Amino acid sequence: MQKYSEALRCEGGKIAFVPTMGYFHEGHIELMRQAKKMSDCVVVSIYVNPTQFGPKEDLSRYPRDFERDSKMAEEAGVDVIFFPPNTEMYPEGYQTYVNVEEVTKNLCGLSRPGHFRGVTTVCAKLFNIVKPHIAVFGKKDYQQYVAIKKMVTDLNMDLDIIGLPTVREADGLAMSSRNVYLKDNERLSGLSLIASLRLAQKLYDQGERSAAKIISEARQLIQNAPYTDIDYIKICDTGTMKDIEKIEKNALIALAVKVSQTRLIDNHVFGENI
Ligand code: AMP
Repeated sequence: MQKYSEALRCEGGKIAFVPTMGYFHEGHIELMRQAKKMSDCVVVSIYVNPTQFGPKEDLSRYPRDFERDSKMAEEAGVDVIFFPPNTEMYPEGYQTYVNVEEVTKNLCGLSRPGHFRGVTTVCAKLFNIVKPHIAVFGKKDYQQYVAIKKMVTDLNMDLDIIGLPTVREADGLAMSSRNVYLKDNERLSGLSLIASLRLAQKLYDQGERSAAKIISEARQLIQNAPYTDIDYIKICDTGTMKDIEKIEKNALIALAVKVSQTRLIDNHVFGENI
């Protein structure tokens, strides 16, 4: 992979990279299409990274289908699929990790200890392997996007990070590889996430600026849907990821909710389209 990228770079080719864990949906494909527009060569990695899963999380049952993924990627104009085995990414004796300290403390960092350390470590490794000029991420995982941007700035990594909007199903459910876990009635409950984000934006449009008041109404709406168990609903600064009490500028409402056994996340930046 390094040799391929280096040869392309020497010819003046621009490389765009889309890191993924596979089991593609329209959200992934849209990142690939946009990456294609911005570059001469699109590299997609498919790697279910063990270091970003906690011991009680869904690593072993995470959905996988390489054949289907490679067909979909080809149709989207992807040039290279990088599909490494664990033994190459983390050989025996592996001991180096990247930790972005502050922006990973809140939100998913609280409920998934070690998760972002795994994400930033694997992305640093993949950036060194793929040598891209740009890497494209979805803002569905907003905190991940912020953490990667911070890592790239802090470690002087020579690439640009592009964040793209969340792709949703027609009914508003944010696309996710984990949506396949949802049974029909659970999926209906999953719609309470987007409904709560829309409610939050409506309250904001009506002039409400108290984070506590908006969170309380969003919480109520989700709690009223069956099978839901709220992990967090928070309003934070889009740059620092720290909680804010009063919404003034650049505020994000982010939530994580378990619907039966499936943990869903979603978010919305106040003032943006939803
Ligand atoms: P994953 O395979 O879930 O690790 O996701 C790979 C990339 O796709 C990450 O940058 C995600 O943020 C992005 N992504 C996942 N779901 C969506 C979505 N619904 N809309 C936009 N990007 C997404």
